[in-house]
Amino acid sequence: MSELLPQTSLDFQPPRSVDLPSAGVRFDVDDQGVGWVLFDHPTKPVNVLDTPTMEKLRNVLDEAMRKDVRGLVFASDKPGMFLAGADVDEIAAVTDARLGAEKAAFGQAVFERIAGFGKPTVTVITGPCLGGGYELALATSLRIAENTPKVRVGLPEVQLGLVPGFGGTQRLPRRAGMMTALDVILAGKSLPARPAFKKGLVDVLVPESLGRSLAREYVMGQRAFEAHRPPRVDRFISALPLVRGRVFRAAESKLGVKVRRDHYPAPYLALESIANGYSLDETAAYRQEALLLGEALATETCRSLIWLFQASQRAKEPPGIDAMLGKKVERLGVVGAGIMGGGIAWLAAEKQLPTRVKDIAPAALETALRTAAELWQSSVAKRRMTWREREARVESLSFGLDLSGFGVTDLVIEAVVEDLGVKRRVIAELEDVVSPNAVIATNTSSLRLADLAANARHPERIVGLHFFNPVHRMPLVEVVIGLQSTPEAVTTAFRLARDLGKTPVLVRDGPGFLVNRLLAFYLGEAINAFEQGADPVVVDAAMVEFGMPMGPFELLDQVGLDVANKVTHVLGEAFGDRLPRQVSIGRLIEGGALGKKSGRGFYVYREGKKEAVNEEARVAAGNPSPHTPPAQEILDRLLLPMIHEGARALEEGLVRHAEDIDLAMVLGTGFPPFRRGPLYYADRRGIPTVIARLEDLAAIHGVRLAPSEALRCRSAGFYAR
Ligand code: NAD
Repeated sequence: MSELLPQTSLDFQPPRSVDLPSAGVRFDVDDQGVGWVLFDHPTKPVNVLDTPTMEKLRNVLDEAMRKDVRGLVFASDKPGMFLAGADVDEIAAVTDARLGAEKAAFGQAVFERIAGFGKPTVTVITGPCLGGGYELALATSLRIAENTPKVRVGLPEVQLGLVPGFGGTQRLPRRAGMMTALDVILAGKSLPARPAFKKGLVDVLVPESLGRSLAREYVMGQRAFEAHRPPRVDRFISALPLVRGRVFRAAESKLGVKVRRDHYPAPYLALESIANGYSLDETAAYRQEALLLGEALATETCRSLIWLFQASQRAKEPPGIDAMLGKKVERLGVVGAGIMGGGIAWLAAEKQLPTRVKDIAPAALETALRTAAELWQSSVAKRRMTWREREARVESLSFGLDLSGFGVTDLVIEAVVEDLGVKRRVIAELEDVVSPNAVIATNTSSLRLADLAANARHPERIVGLHFFNPVHRMPLVEVVIGLQSTPEAVTTAFRLARDLGKTPVLVRDGPGFLVNRLLAFYLGEAINAFEQGADPVVVDAAMVEFGMPMGPFELLDQVGLDVANKVTHVLGEAFGDRLPRQVSIGRLIEGGALGKKSGRGFYVYREGKKEAVNEEARVAAGNPSPHTPPAQEILDRLLLPMIHEGARALEEGLVRHAEDIDLAMVLGTGFPPFRRGPLYYADRRGIPTVIARLEDLAAIHGVRLAPSEALRCRSAGFYAR
């Protein structure tokens, strides 16, 4: 592969001449002869290293050489920012391994000029310093970080299916040590200021707004700072080839437990690149790094992960949303402090949004407060949070058994039990108390907004805000638009979801909204297959092999069979014969098997660990004769009905386009990100093939699986223009 690149990658020059109107960097020399390389992207809210900026940076470095400055300070003119990395939109346009490798080689060459500058060079980190931005920082002789919450330092490339390609896999091990480099690069970590300092990712930690003046003193020789060196034990280990080899093999096995190489190649390629740094000469190791980046860039996984990043960004800014009149939520109310309400309250307090929580059960309030306090306590223990920050979060929460305090809220989320009557009563009580402009949002999983709002005095202010469990981990929120919801109410809810750090997807009202509706078809077919004799272990394994985080039966046990049954019941009423009939869950619940929480569901659990298939479940299914279909048949049986339902949802206008469905299914259900989403997966297989397979399945399992017009009219593909 090495013939793809010019022999000395470090001398690589891009062939184009440069007109740089949009470059995000400028250069100044102050009266003391200190050179200032200042980033401020003219068209983007964050600083990125796009091609114009990189080319201008190269020119700036030449100019700095000519002007004979005393040294260079790299900093950002945008407050709370340094460099967020390479430009993802630009990376997305590169699909060719060779071109990717050439771009990496160019980046390496520019940064090599910094590393070889011959005078003090220092980075002042005042915000995100990630990917290419941190690789630039690694090329300077010193890294000063200001101790502010905005600071994030690291190399998250593998999360986009990439390998650090501007020297990161070579310089980080030399700066912070091999073990830290493996830890950061293979997991794509980015750390806040203090942990980054502790791990040696930055050399100096200073209070806010002191970075620039200290950097200047350093360059002028008025202040001595030492760059971090790897710990002695790390230097010792990395110097011994046998021990080093063992460490790399252990790192590979550890990776193998987390991600498969054929699904997510980037961390494996990054590991190879780090190892090259110890076995090849410097020039060859850098050249290989560029080639490995090119290799990663050309994979389907990388395309999918970049799509996921971009689609999440697009979802946060849907056309027209800012023109609408929604307001920023300054005070939040939450009714119901159970699993979901407690999680939402914790999240709001994380963002220090004043939040009032009501429940009818004192124990629920106590649990919610204790759970939140424990999470913060553990952050304090891990020094990710100070005591004062913890206190601020605790103080932003208040609890009560009545609705006092709800009169001043801008939005209330109801997260009480999934019962139409109870929810209607809660909405009626809220309408008596909240201000006329307040929005009422429901976190229901399966009930329709139209039914919940049927008796409301102001149904126009009722929307859905459907969070997923666990709230602190799941990035998706479905923002549900009722037939009568006003744009103001919807936008207010949308902005809240975004302010809480979630990715909101706009969905119209309907049973199960989008995610639970599609999931019901997937899970329904799994249960139906089980009731025909399929082994849950084999079905779960087939779906994990496909890339799902867990199989359908383990998922059902985790969700809780009682919870799943409620949703299934509501959706069964809505979709009738389109969903398969199922009896086993109801019978299991009657026998007290509620899933993992009760120690018995489709599986038996001991001390929270899955042990074996629960024989009660086979009995509940009527003891069918064992029949285990081949893996491909299982995939088709479970996935194609879900895709089919996606086609129907699109035709109904439930969401705007295929991308919303794929994004929601990846973020809401863990559909394998490297496959980009069910509809994209269908496009890859070809819709005519999907239709043909559904016809086969319908012939065996019934007419419910017969492809509808909604799918047939997509024969060119869901993403076809
Ligand atoms: P939960 O049973 O854990 O909590 C419900 C809470 O509501 C309880 O603390 C209960 O005391 C309280 N409550 C009941 N009636 C009340 C009333 N009149 N006023 C105030 N509080 C009242 O339930 P959960 O899992 O948190 O689910 C809450 C809602 O979120 C449901 O609509 C559910 O469908 C939905 N949801 C659940 C999940 C999930 O996985 N658990 C995921 C997404 C959405």
